[in-house]
Amino acid sequence: MERIVITGGAGFIGSALCERLLNEGNSVVCIDNLSSGRRLNIAHLESRESMLFLKKDITEHFSVEGSVDKVYHLASMASPKDFESHALEIALTGSIGTLNALELAREKNARFLFTSTSEVYGQPTRHPQSEDYWGNVNPVGVRACYDESKRFSEMLSTVFGRTYGLDIRIARIFNTYGPGMRPGDGRVIPNFVSQALQNRPITINGDGQQTRSFCYIDDMVDGLIRLMNTEKLKDSGPVNLGSDREITVLQLANMIKDITGSESKLVFNEMPQDDPVRRRPDIRKAYQLLGWKPKTALSTGLRKVIERYQSTSSMKQNAK
Ligand code: UDP
Repeated sequence: MERIVITGGAGFIGSALCERLLNEGNSVVCIDNLSSGRRLNIAHLESRESMLFLKKDITEHFSVEGSVDKVYHLASMASPKDFESHALEIALTGSIGTLNALELAREKNARFLFTSTSEVYGQPTRHPQSEDYWGNVNPVGVRACYDESKRFSEMLSTVFGRTYGLDIRIARIFNTYGPGMRPGDGRVIPNFVSQALQNRPITINGDGQQTRSFCYIDDMVDGLIRLMNTEKLKDSGPVNLGSDREITVLQLANMIKDITGSESKLVFNEMPQDDPVRRRPDIRKAYQLLGWKPKTALSTGLRKVIERYQSTSSMKQNAK
């Protein structure tokens, strides 16, 4: 049994990670300021003796009592919807917050995993994106608070590894979805599913020809744990984690319409600034190092998301 700290542990990916690590017999310290994370996500875990929730903002210095074996640093708002309204908070979480999380790992001599993002590739000029591509990020654009702070955090984690001999790992997470995303999250799958289920217009940005590759939450959690637990990965650099099945946003909308049997119309809005036109990870490195690749088909995962939305909205109706 290990004692594991997870920053951002009440978020969508963080809470799924808390649950898996607890189920595997570990003790978990979940740290979150609940800015985009929700107490609801971890409510079913809080009665467990091996679960400790600390409401803290990691941009302020923090400490954790007792020994710590591993630190997963996930904390950050991650929806493009928040990039303009919470830019400063995001920039500071991905800089000062990362510094504080690294200091904790250093103090405890813990292994450290930083969750970076496909956004470090920006508007990619290479396709698919492999880890040796340095990216094409607009440093002053609307997404910069997220993209650049994640790039800075990759650098800072690497420097801590080189300077202090800390064992650090970097996951570059591509689009991830699953039950448990906030309905108002703003990202494409929660938006389209809630619109389709309510027969409201499905809001497509641009002409819908931009692509993404969507990875199911259970596969992502599995990849993160493998990246953390695999021995002798020191100095192996960032690892892409995501699905390599690429689809257009328009195809996604039609898929969700079909599965839900929705009568929603498709409406086409303006394309947001710096919205990547194509995105698909090269995941060969993850397979070579970790023996990992995603298993869940998009249609299967989407059905699970839709079922969860249907059951929670019927629960709300019953409670009225
Ligand atoms: N998108 C869309 N309609 C929405 C929300 C998002 O067409 O209601 C598009 C968005 O412009 C982007 C893609 O879907 O091209 C994925 O967006 P998301 O916010 O989920 O994440 P991103 O990959 O941009 O970080």
